[in-house]
Amino acid sequence: MALVGDSYEYYDKRFYDLTVPIAEVEELFDGCRWAEGPVWFNEHATLVWSDIPNRRLLRWIEGQGVSVFRHESNYANGNTRDRQGRLVSCEHGGRRVTRTEPDGTLTVIADSYKGKRLNSPNDVVVKSDGTIWFTDPNYGIMSDYEGYKADMEQAGCFVFRADPATGALDIVADDFVKPNGLAFSPDETILYVADSARSHDPDGPHHIRALDVGADGRLSGSRVFCEVDPGVPDGFRLDTDGNLWTSCGNGVICFAPDGTPLGRIRIPQTVANVTFGGPKRNRMFITATKSLYAVYLATTGAQTP
Ligand code: MG
Repeated sequence: MALVGDSYEYYDKRFYDLTVPIAEVEELFDGCRWAEGPVWFNEHATLVWSDIPNRRLLRWIEGQGVSVFRHESNYANGNTRDRQGRLVSCEHGGRRVTRTEPDGTLTVIADSYKGKRLNSPNDVVVKSDGTIWFTDPNYGIMSDYEGYKADMEQAGCFVFRADPATGALDIVADDFVKPNGLAFSPDETILYVADSARSHDPDGPHHIRALDVGADGRLSGSRVFCEVDPGVPDGFRLDTDGNLWTSCGNGVICFAPDGTPLGRIRIPQTVANVTFGGPKRNRMFITATKSLYAVYLATTGAQTP
């Protein structure tokens, strides 16, 4: 377990209240090709994440280390858990969102919209009402590296809401170039959605937008919450006070609820996703290119997965 020194950049005094300055970033695993999609299962003291090009889901168990959770993962990317504790995954290869049942079988949540295949679902969150919200950029079909190269069948890269209770699948946002990470505010009145299009276009968006969530599930009032630089916002999570923690090049940057950048955690490689875990939800797990990192914070993750 390697410690990484000199971990923090402080832009605002509030960042001192959110971090533990003596707690350094630790590297827990370094054998991935491109790591994403961390999700914490407290009942199993387990962190599951995706190693996309190697077509596997890995698991880190506290006190035991890392093993393969699933191979073949079908180029799984983003993962989360639903309110029943079941794993929900985005598959580039299957161009679908699946749920893993307690007996290990997979249930397809969504794989097409209006008769046409999805692009390559990227990241996913579950609302407290059980609806499953996911983004569908085309990263997973642009080459054979993270999926199977193919043409888009959808007219764009949309944000979808699936309702497993009814089978309904609806587009909730259609004006993103490459929608990527997403997460609700702690009270679920705001949905944050990243646009990471700068990854393949130097002039493309590299921001996170905030959208108001109506009682009927419709989104409104789309506005830019923050711009991320360097790098792009890929995946992110919120803490219990509504601060947003997202990838930012070789680091994790934290924004206050009003969009003010508070500080940054330096990570040795390009960060993709983060999640809160540990029995106290005060440990941030960070997937960054080849490695899984972790760091203890002075805040805790919001209960929304
Ligand atoms: Mg992503």
